[in-house]
Amino acid sequence: MRSDKVSVIGAGIAGITTAYYLAKAGIDVEIIDREKHPAMGTSYANGGQISVSNSETWNSYRNIWKGIKWLTNKSAPLRINITPSWEKYSWLIKFLSEVPNADKNTIETCLMAIESRELYKKIEIEENISFDSVKKGILHFYKSQKEFNHALNANKIYSKAGLNREVLTIEEIHNLEPSLILHNIIGGLYTESDFTGDIHKFCQELANKLKKEYRVKVLQEEITSLKDIENLVVVCAGTGSKRLAKTVGDHLPIYPVKGYSITIKDPQKAPWVSLLDDEAKIVASRLGQDRLRVAGTAEFNGYNMDIPDERIQPLIDWVQNNSPDTNISNIETWTGLRPMTPNMMPIVRKSRKFSNIWYHTGHGHLGWTLSAYTAKTITEKIIKDLV
Ligand SMILES: Cc1cc2nc3c(=O)[nH]c(=O)nc-3n(C[C@H](O)[C@H](O)[C@H](O)COP(=O)(O)OP(=O)(O)OC[C@H]3O[C@@H](n4cnc5c(N)ncnc54)[C@H](O)[C@@H]3O)c2cc1C
Repeated sequence: MRSDKVSVIGAGIAGITTAYYLAKAGIDVEIIDREKHPAMGTSYANGGQISVSNSETWNSYRNIWKGIKWLTNKSAPLRINITPSWEKYSWLIKFLSEVPNADKNTIETCLMAIESRELYKKIEIEENISFDSVKKGILHFYKSQKEFNHALNANKIYSKAGLNREVLTIEEIHNLEPSLILHNIIGGLYTESDFTGDIHKFCQELANKLKKEYRVKVLQEEITSLKDIENLVVVCAGTGSKRLAKTVGDHLPIYPVKGYSITIKDPQKAPWVSLLDDEAKIVASRLGQDRLRVAGTAEFNGYNMDIPDERIQPLIDWVQNNSPDTNISNIETWTGLRPMTPNMMPIVRKSRKFSNIWYHTGHGHLGWTLSAYTAKTITEKIIKDLV
């Protein structure tokens, strides 16, 4: 590596947006990824939502209780493999200890997400890139009064950050998204300003722009240690960041929280408004005319990348139950690992030990939503540090 460059490790959404803001600031940048093409890790086939309305952190006794209740249910939205693992249990204990900070962190996440959403719109226009974005808002819907009451309560926290989700009646839900089957739905919350898009396509298109117009190099190489790197480096390696940080004695509290998605090609009568079923923890997003992405579940199972039928079937059932006219004859399955911190806040800082090493990672379930903002923030911090 040349010492006059900034090297960004990782070509997922965290790395590509970081390289973008660094290059825009006139800095010489190279992106290094172990894969040949950008966004082949967790930024490959996620839920697609740029969702300020999903900023609520998961740290709550309610969610912990749900996890315990679902321990033996193989198709539950939340699953914990109970085999002993220091990494997993120490992370879960820290997650528990963050419950008192949940409201504060939700407000901070929401503020970051609001800024980030605007930055994506700006990038889309200024760089003239297309990533199958659909700007029809996100609808959260509820089938249990308890969940709906919880969501209405969360609205009070969101409003402190400036987000006001619109409470919809059943009739209004039907008018907004006629393809959604209403039976058992008791209410919904709609955020018109949220939108969706293909994270993989965004990363690829922006990486191409970076190569052609910003003279950024994209290299294929697996980095095994940060020790001998002399130039400035920004680690954006998703769930691989923790291992890299360890090579220089830094600890990043990241656990890989597994999720699954299906991509339905030619979905015909599928919903156009993006959906979030809060109880099932499943999201659905149209990616342009031709695809519907349905994603969800959180699984604590180490770095395992298997895709068992029992975890995919609930996603297919969900489509058939909630939008039965969707054509599901052509489905691709996928799994990815969310780089999740115990307090669910991204890590956007310099190494505590080495002044040339920076970390931009740990975005968990909101990496698509937050990365534009956190990438801009880390760029500003790096530039401030350089002068
Ligand atoms: C099922 C699911 C649904 C989701 N839905 C949403 C959603 O709707 N909205 C939202 O905001 N977020 C969502 N997320 C979260 C979001 O997808 C992630 O937070 C985000 O993709 C993480 O991006 P990243 O760049 O940090 O990591 P990655 O995309 O994994 O990128 C890291 C890159 O680093 C490379 N790398 C790792 N180690 C090394 C090494 N040693 N040397 C070289 N290269 C290395 C990898 O190859 C990879 O390309 C979802 C996640 C999942 C799993």
